[in-house]
Amino acid sequence: MKKHNFSAGPCILPQPVFQKASEAVLNFNDLGLSILEISHRSKDFVEVMETARNLALEHLGLQEKGYKALFLHGGASLQFLMTAYNLLENKAAYLNTGTWSDKAIKEAKVLGEVVEVASSKNENFNFIPKNYSIPSDVDYFHCTSNNTIFGTQLQSFPETNAPLVCDMSSDIFSRQLDFSKFSLIYAGAQKNMGPSGTTLVIIKEDILGKVSRAIPSMLNYKMHIEKDSMFNTPAVFPVYVSMLTLQWLKDLGGISAIEKVNNQKAKILYQEIDRNPLFDGFVVNKEDRSKMNATFNIKKPELKDSFDSLIQEAGISGINGHRSVGGYRASMYNAMPLESVELLVEVMKDFEKHA
Ligand SMILES: *Cc1c(COP(=O)(O)O)cnc(C)c1O
Repeated sequence: MKKHNFSAGPCILPQPVFQKASEAVLNFNDLGLSILEISHRSKDFVEVMETARNLALEHLGLQEKGYKALFLHGGASLQFLMTAYNLLENKAAYLNTGTWSDKAIKEAKVLGEVVEVASSKNENFNFIPKNYSIPSDVDYFHCTSNNTIFGTQLQSFPETNAPLVCDMSSDIFSRQLDFSKFSLIYAGAQKNMGPSGTTLVIIKEDILGKVSRAIPSMLNYKMHIEKDSMFNTPAVFPVYVSMLTLQWLKDLGGISAIEKVNNQKAKILYQEIDRNPLFDGFVVNKEDRSKMNATFNIKKPELKDSFDSLIQEAGISGINGHRSVGGYRASMYNAMPLESVELLVEVMKDFEKHA
């Protein structure tokens, strides 16, 4: 039986994408070859790479606006360093809203001065700081749009003259934003776009070339742009599966269509967390709640085993909270059907009846 996968990442992908990807492993484009054995320089794969890059820009409304899309190696974690390497000359501003922001700050500090404009670290990141100011003389401002671990999400982004750099690993393509406000967006594929092994980077080209340090080729965005994201062998299969997912999203009606479903999923789950006397949400301010990752706790720890067995019987998988937070975390990425969230809500209601 196919499980209802609420895992935070690597995560659920659309079932038709799994189907097509599995076919391509055996026989890609009727070439009589597997996608796993073809040259990344072959016409068929170059087309995959181009399609994936174009679809990413198209979904974000960034075509012909001076942006380039890249599929790189090293995960979002390498982008913590790479953004600083390419953009940080003197000083950069960072908003610290979670473990991932904290790691990004640590990497940037290797290369320059970091101003932490605000932080919720002392509260284990259970809220989004607001009303901070960004110094006018920074090279860029970095934030994380969705805190995958604690389940908070930025609902708005600050106005600043500095280039806006954002880690959107866990909510890219999930909601409409004015993406042209951002100068650089990066996202590990494995949260909302594809399997692990590739990272999408969207860069406004005019922010590059402003630092004085020498940049090694593999860390140099300009080099990757020049080589059309093929400086070295790209992650052929993850890029292919990402392309399939972006195509799936387009066929569905794009971000605006999926956002409606995402809103509905988050609404019914949070309604139940708030209504059900046996559960508590983790996030302090309701307006900071993430629509991708909902965190909650059982008020009476002695009831945990009985909830866990109900979850298991229902075929629900991957809802244990991150080890640094505990409790439960239901991740509801684009590919998660509304029906799976409805099922989880049913189980929570049943649990209340039988507790
Ligand atoms: C998962 C995650 C990362 C780390 O991604 P890797 O690809 O494993 O390096 C970074 N930022 C956010 C917001 C994440 O959710």
